[in-house]
Amino acid sequence: MSTDIMRTEPTRAATMRAVIMHAPGDVRVDDIPTPTIVEPTDAIIRVTAACICGSDLWPYRGIEPVNGPTAMGHEYIGVVEEIGDEVRDISVGDFVVGSFVASDNTCEICRAGFQSRCIHQVMMGGVGTQSDYARIPLADGTLVKVEGDPTPAQTRSLLAASDVLGTGWFAAVAAEAGPGKTVAVVGDGAVGLLAILAAKQLGAERIIAMSRHADRQALATTFGATDIVEERGDAGVAKIKELTGGYGAHSTVEAVGTQESMMQAIHATRPGGHVGYVGVSHGVELDGLDLFFSTVSLLGGPAPVRRFLPELIDLIMSDRIDPGIVFDLTLPIEEAADGYRAMDERRATKVLLTTEL
Ligand SMILES: [Zn+2]
Repeated sequence: MSTDIMRTEPTRAATMRAVIMHAPGDVRVDDIPTPTIVEPTDAIIRVTAACICGSDLWPYRGIEPVNGPTAMGHEYIGVVEEIGDEVRDISVGDFVVGSFVASDNTCEICRAGFQSRCIHQVMMGGVGTQSDYARIPLADGTLVKVEGDPTPAQTRSLLAASDVLGTGWFAAVAAEAGPGKTVAVVGDGAVGLLAILAAKQLGAERIIAMSRHADRQALATTFGATDIVEERGDAGVAKIKELTGGYGAHSTVEAVGTQESMMQAIHATRPGGHVGYVGVSHGVELDGLDLFFSTVSLLGGPAPVRRFLPELIDLIMSDRIDPGIVFDLTLPIEEAADGYRAMDERRATKVLLTTEL
């Protein structure tokens, strides 16, 4: 059969369902135009599942401005429906995972492993993926094909790889978690919890989860935490010091993004140690002299999830990790507003939105 015969014209409806934030606290599912190929390097995917990110709560709570109706979402898995003329590595019908930043994966920044800051980066948050379809720019660089036929559990985990797992993984790598290391994790949201999973996979000897919520403590322990610290701020730092012979952690993950959490992370880390910070920074200011005497390495920012996706997909498809259990609420996309409320009120850790229910 020739490829000409296999290439069918897309039969998508002109409009699709999409989660739109109209104002803080006002999330609706609207009909908007179905995306089409714009650049020859684009792909259109049918989104099978997306999720609500902790970072979506910043505008939801009015801490970030909402400038008119905004298509939401930047985490996604799906099936390729159509490709632009210059797409070579991704084919129609592929089941794919991408990250929250589209990247060419060829520029010097990408090749150094920092695809989230690709010189041609496109933030998927500005495109929207909580919808029936999504346009993925730079498809060859952004999307990774999943071989085989994922089980429902593997499918959830692949969705987690798109952001929360990839971000937690980057945080653990940036903090240089590894054999013989004590890793402290500030933040018990999905990213912090999956940083625990990452630290465990990377061989950390001891993993201290900082959490005061019983359900999240339980998940932290499931993912590999060896100790739980409920105290915050200076009291939390004192507890970490106490648990580490007065030294502090070798590696600390910061997964919140507030002044308190950042200072907690820096101060909980021993001199010579490393902080991986991935909480989106809001109002954080560092005192130069404090930082000077902390003598720690800081590496963070938007996680280059694309760097880790092939490895994470392999770990998931061989059932060596099960990050998908972090999703504690699954809703059809029509009920997205309920999902935002549940996360805002901390009734849910991580909400999965599916187009297939
Ligand atoms: Zn690049």
